[in-house]
Amino acid sequence: MDFDSAKQVFEKYLDGYDRENDKVRLKIVHTYGVVEQSAAIAGRLGLSQEDKELAGIIALLHDIGRFEQLRRFDSFLPDTMDHASYGVELLFGKQGMIRRFVPEDTWDGVIRTAIARHSDFALEGITDGRELMHARIIRDADKLDNCRVKLEDDFETFLGAPAEEVSLSAITPKVREDALAGRSILSSDRVTPMDYWVSYLVYFYDLNYRASLDIVEENDYVRRLIHRIPYLDPDTGRVMEELENRLIKYVSEAKKRIVKGEDKMEKYLGENIPKLGFGLMRLPMDGEKIDVARTQEMVDRFLEEGFCYFDTAYGYNDGESEAVAKKVLVDRYPRDRFLLATKLPAWAGAKNREEAERMFYTSLERTGAGYFDFYLLHNLGQERTRFFDDYDIWNFLKERKKEGLIRHLGFSMHDKAEALDRILTEHPEMEFVQLQINYADWEDPDIESRKCYETARKHGKPVIIMEPVKGGTLADPPREVKEILAEADGNASPSSWAIRFAASLDGVITVLSGMSNMEQMEDNLSYMKDFAPLSEAEQQVIKRARDMYASFPKIPCTSCAYCMKGCPKQIGIHGIFQAYNLYTMYHDLSGARHKYQWNTEGRGFAKASACIRCGKCEQVCPQHIHIRDELARAAEALEG
Ligand code: SF4
Ligand code: SF4
Repeated sequence: MDFDSAKQVFEKYLDGYDRENDKVRLKIVHTYGVVEQSAAIAGRLGLSQEDKELAGIIALLHDIGRFEQLRRFDSFLPDTMDHASYGVELLFGKQGMIRRFVPEDTWDGVIRTAIARHSDFALEGITDGRELMHARIIRDADKLDNCRVKLEDDFETFLGAPAEEVSLSAITPKVREDALAGRSILSSDRVTPMDYWVSYLVYFYDLNYRASLDIVEENDYVRRLIHRIPYLDPDTGRVMEELENRLIKYVSEAKKRIVKGEDKMEKYLGENIPKLGFGLMRLPMDGEKIDVARTQEMVDRFLEEGFCYFDTAYGYNDGESEAVAKKVLVDRYPRDRFLLATKLPAWAGAKNREEAERMFYTSLERTGAGYFDFYLLHNLGQERTRFFDDYDIWNFLKERKKEGLIRHLGFSMHDKAEALDRILTEHPEMEFVQLQINYADWEDPDIESRKCYETARKHGKPVIIMEPVKGGTLADPPREVKEILAEADGNASPSSWAIRFAASLDGVITVLSGMSNMEQMEDNLSYMKDFAPLSEAEQQVIKRARDMYASFPKIPCTSCAYCMKGCPKQIGIHGIFQAYNLYTMYHDLSGARHKYQWNTEGRGFAKASACIRCGKCEQVCPQHIHIRDELARAAEALEG
């Protein structure tokens, strides 16, 4: 897929039409205007390069049916031809013209849906996340360029009546009522020229993205459009003044609603979920057991402040977390007051399909929840994914979803972007993914936070974020990082920076925080109750903190694993270096030891102390790392 090549083909296609014709010329200008607006929206949404190209190509082709409509009928009126359907027929029908623009068929579904639905009265019934996103982008871009058209072009051209005639006409009651009530205008309700004019102005109600509303405000489109003509009918003048105030208020309030996650644009999977979720994996402890009374207090406080998402797992605290969720949450609150997520770890001890499937029913019984709002295949990636394949847990869970025992099905994952891309390609039915994302790991080549996030978004999947504070390490950063954060805002905790960074990303369902005491909870609630995404200046602070982390001493291992192929002792070299880096960069000894154990014996490799210093590894390491010496240091710090 390449926008520039598609544009060349489009230009050749236009050669078949009369470019001198005013209406044809207008449509060409409009097409490129929409391309520009699509690029602006896609850029502000931070989409991947692939989605940006896709948005551009959809914009280029969205009105392709218009040219034939003009040739045959010399009219834009919908009763002459449904130009969107005709465009789809042209591209995907017998002629299959789409292959001239995009050689691969990978994106056919997305392109087809976006073009077919771009001029529908309302956008409903699209279930695929990526198709929906592109359908929304093209609709917004189309409307934004229409602002330009309606500001620049003659009324005669787009309304069939001169401006004076429009300004003298009245607005019919139904159109006035809908416009002032915040509703779009049905084509069939438009009678007078003013009705048509008003119907274009209320396009603003239908915008989907905050980015689009920002563009409207930055260009002062509402005021400029409304004041384009004088309203000579006094009654019309009053309505237009009221409409102007209504629209300006709408744009500004819609932006705030999007920020708070209360608007259609920030709802994912039909949910209306605040951006902070309670992770039930590090609950307060009373000796070896979870402290139920303190957990209950925290759960009550969390719900009291309007939050509702709880995340547990089959394996957390050997199942005790699920059982405590029943006691403090499920047994004490109406089922529709909270959302409960849990996870199935098919790789954790299940010897066969039946045992893996039983985990689902055990969770159902332990929590007493009746059904799960979100259910996840737990911790895919590396050698763990095959257990879900071997036991066909994918289809097992799809069946449970059909039975209503699962509302939304997804998976969590600790692996790199390539593996995530593969799984999402093989399992497009997954509705969401849960990823480890934090600002420090954003560019880390071992973790690929950013790349994983972009991969999920490329597949149109919303994201639940786990470990936003990197297992607690970003809550207590080294002095140099603390100073950067404190200098920017002396009152904000280091955790608040980390959680707000995660929650500021587009397409996030919620950000999980594994809160262990009321103090942490109060801190989280203080800035997430009225959550505001990071400003541009705050993003710069995060960047400086990240750069500071990156400047700390680190073994520059790229995890290529060449060294491990010839190691006679099968030492888990790159996993050991990951754990050791965690220790040297974040001073997190217990986290590093945990990771060390998991990356060595946990995955069938030997520890650093088993090294016999044969030196074979160093002969092949492309980074020229002194592997033997580093292993010795890691063994000293992390073993014993
Ligand atoms: S020096 Fe140690 S780590 Fe390297 S290949 Fe030999 S035994 Fe393995
Ligand atoms: S060969 Fe070098 S860079 Fe590659 S995994 Fe081994 S230590 Fe890391």
